Amino acid sequence: MRCFIHQDRDAIGLCKACAKGLCPDCAVDLGHGLACKGIHEDTVAMYSAIINKNARVYSASGKSWAVVPAFFTLTGIGFVVFGTFAPDRLQWFLFAFGGLFFAFGLFCGYYNYRAFAQRS
Ligand SMILES: [Zn+2]
Ligand SMILES: [Zn+2]
Repeated sequence: MRCFIHQDRDAIGLCKACAKGLCPDCAVDLGHGLACKGIHEDTVAMYSAIINKNARVYSASGKSWAVVPAFFTLTGIGFVVFGTFAPDRLQWFLFAFGGLFFAFGLFCGYYNYRAFAQRS
């Protein structure tokens, strides 16, 4: 492959932003990829920042698998506890609702945990 700007020179790599061939004079090595000197330096730096951020979010989400299930389970318990103090007319409704939340929380927790355990 040839440099996009200097057709007589061999390219040493591709710009990460526009995928054009670059010779040593045209390329800037940003440590995590090459960029067109003075053209795509900022763009490639930004791409890398976004990718790094996503990687961090992904690894953080591995620890938060229990947050949503815990929320539903606790809300379900809250409904049932609240139901025991509620008037009879409301009680069945709160018990049913709390039971649904509780069951969904357990199911969600089991499902998330399995996905989490498989990934790590
Ligand atoms: Zn470029
Ligand atoms: Zn060149």
